[in-house]
Amino acid sequence: MLNYSKIASDLRSRVKTDDATALRYVVLDARLALEEVAFERLRVVNKKYLADDLNKWRPKDVMAFLIAEIDENAAREFTLSVSRLPVDEANPPSTAEEFQKIEYETVGVQSGFDVKKLNRVWQALSSFLHASFEGYAVLNTEKAKKTILRASDFFDSLADGNLLMVGGLESFRFECVCGRPFFKKTVLVKKNSILTCPRLGCMESYAVTEISETPIVERRYSSFSCTCGRVIEVPLRYVDEMKGSEQVNFKCECGLDGIIKHGKSRVLIKNR
Ligand SMILES: [Zn+2]
Ligand SMILES: [Zn+2]
Repeated sequence: MLNYSKIASDLRSRVKTDDATALRYVVLDARLALEEVAFERLRVVNKKYLADDLNKWRPKDVMAFLIAEIDENAAREFTLSVSRLPVDEANPPSTAEEFQKIEYETVGVQSGFDVKKLNRVWQALSSFLHASFEGYAVLNTEKAKKTILRASDFFDSLADGNLLMVGGLESFRFECVCGRPFFKKTVLVKKNSILTCPRLGCMESYAVTEISETPIVERRYSSFSCTCGRVIEVPLRYVDEMKGSEQVNFKCECGLDGIIKHGKSRVLIKNR
């Protein structure tokens, strides 16, 4: 986990320089650390997530994804406490009063932040990292310093946090056939709805056929038999997204070409 107060003090000491090149690296490091605030929360959920596995990678997109799909508390502050004494399992507390009577010990705090604020500081830092008419070498050092200090204040505001608890239990997780782990808040998974794989370029989708304790999903595809005997599975999203006279071409391993056309109300396949 990031050491937020160390980052804040590091930025404050490095901002003292008037050397434009050095300052630009401070801007870069500050921006990187802001991105890390979002990505370290993402990593708590699943280490398989990589930056290029996300459709969008800016910290505000990562946080929006986490909040919408995984845990609405992903950017909120909260404290984790445990009971000092073991709870009587035969007679567990059930009412608010009974819970209040328990003596708690604080385990740690997840720091919270305003995602919009994170994004504003991130964008302000980014503005110093683009080429401009004035040229790359020109840096408004006063403005850059102010922005770095804004980032430093942001990290100070996170300094009380010492643990991350992102990842609600109510998240439904499964893996697409492409290998991409797939999350959705269980409450958002409705019967007969369609879940599409978030990996760029993956055309797989899944129909929610049952909502019981855990939703049951079925991969959506059509299978066709080639004259060689092989069965070809075509994800239905190709057909969903087909317009008018469009067609999808594919090749069987035997070398024969196939076409799917959007017919009047059915899908056609021919071997050429
Ligand atoms: Zn996929
Ligand atoms: Zn074939």
